[in-house]
Amino acid sequence: MNADEQKAFEEEIYAFVGREVCPPTPAPDDVNMAMIRQWAEVLGETNPAYLDPAWAQQSARGKTIAPPAMMYVWGQEGFAATRGRAPNAQVDLVETFNRYGYTGVLGTNVKQEYVKEVGPGDNVSMQMVIDNISERKTTSRGTGYFFETLATFTDQAGEVVGTQRFKVLKFIPQEQPAAASSDDGGLEVPTRIASPRGQDNGWWWDAVDEGKVLIQRCKSCQTLRHPPRPMCGECQSMEWDSIESSLDGEVLSYTCLRHPAIPGYPKDPICAVIKLGEGTNIVSNLVGCEYEDVQIGMRVKGKIEQVDEKTLLPQFYPA
Ligand SMILES: [Zn+2]
Repeated sequence: MNADEQKAFEEEIYAFVGREVCPPTPAPDDVNMAMIRQWAEVLGETNPAYLDPAWAQQSARGKTIAPPAMMYVWGQEGFAATRGRAPNAQVDLVETFNRYGYTGVLGTNVKQEYVKEVGPGDNVSMQMVIDNISERKTTSRGTGYFFETLATFTDQAGEVVGTQRFKVLKFIPQEQPAAASSDDGGLEVPTRIASPRGQDNGWWWDAVDEGKVLIQRCKSCQTLRHPPRPMCGECQSMEWDSIESSLDGEVLSYTCLRHPAIPGYPKDPICAVIKLGEGTNIVSNLVGCEYEDVQIGMRVKGKIEQVDEKTLLPQFYPA
């Protein structure tokens, strides 16, 4: 962008400051115990001021209240939100950024302030505006602008319940290094991240370099443990030796690491928790099969392989 284009772009985005994203909109459901109970259950929240009407009746308030952090919950759309949003000033602002190449997006912080308690039977309305847009900034993620929305929550009497500021960075993403491939015409092939060898686990990686996967064993009570650590969790002994794993195992859990790309892998790696025949678990790569073909309980066999010019790693294959 040249200076004139930059100026025109900034005029376009700064014109959004003060625009309303949504007018005061009453939540479809009043504050209610069912939603409070589910929210509390998910978060492990047990405060009787939210959950126990009998307890709350004896308290200074005389009734239960909603957790203040739920004020943003009451007006949230349900499944409909996944079908796309009706245009509003925030959607238009984001599209303006995208059009000029500021396609990266990162929510950076949320700040809520609570003014008034609400409880079952109250109704919360939300109004939102685009409150401010920063000047152009260069961050570690790229160059861009922070914009902040301000949501104001009110009850059925029009009194302010609280506010929420939500800050987003829209930025020009930096070039990502391409994943390594064997036919990239002489470009330097990225290598794997070096294994972190500390005082407590260096010996384990040294053994891998010699072609062995070892499992630490307590000398006092014989309990096996992995990953390596200095003390036995069963008997607190610090005396240990090790046994060599046969690398027979089964998949306990797995996932595919798709984003962000990790250097040194020709394709998105399958990462699995493998239960070894000896009894301990190990996190490793599953190779020699497609992600779609992996199953929990699948038998696997490991071997130590050279994965780049300086790295040896245990790799597991379908048995
Ligand atoms: Zn022990």
